[in-house]
Amino acid sequence: MLSNEVITRIREMLDGGASQRSISKSLGISRNSVTKVADGRRVGTGAGVAEAAAVKEVPVYRCGICGMKTTLLPCLACFLRSGGAL
Ligand SMILES: [Zn+2]
Repeated sequence: MLSNEVITRIREMLDGGASQRSISKSLGISRNSVTKVADGRRVGTGAGVAEAAAVKEVPVYRCGICGMKTTLLPCLACFLRSGGAL
């Protein structure tokens, strides 16, 4: 998990025209992390943080039928497969 400072730094460097590879090298983080920030998938400030925290609070279960991770029991796939009978 990247800290907000690192995310901000990555954004600054991206804005400054630095390549993702040079950013990952100079900050010592994975290229993948830089790509995620560049794609806007990691939100470091404001509503994004609250959103991420909210997502974390949702309990995740294992579907008893197919074993998939799901927030609903049974999982949507099994529910649909059953024709809504479950
Ligand atoms: Zn299932």
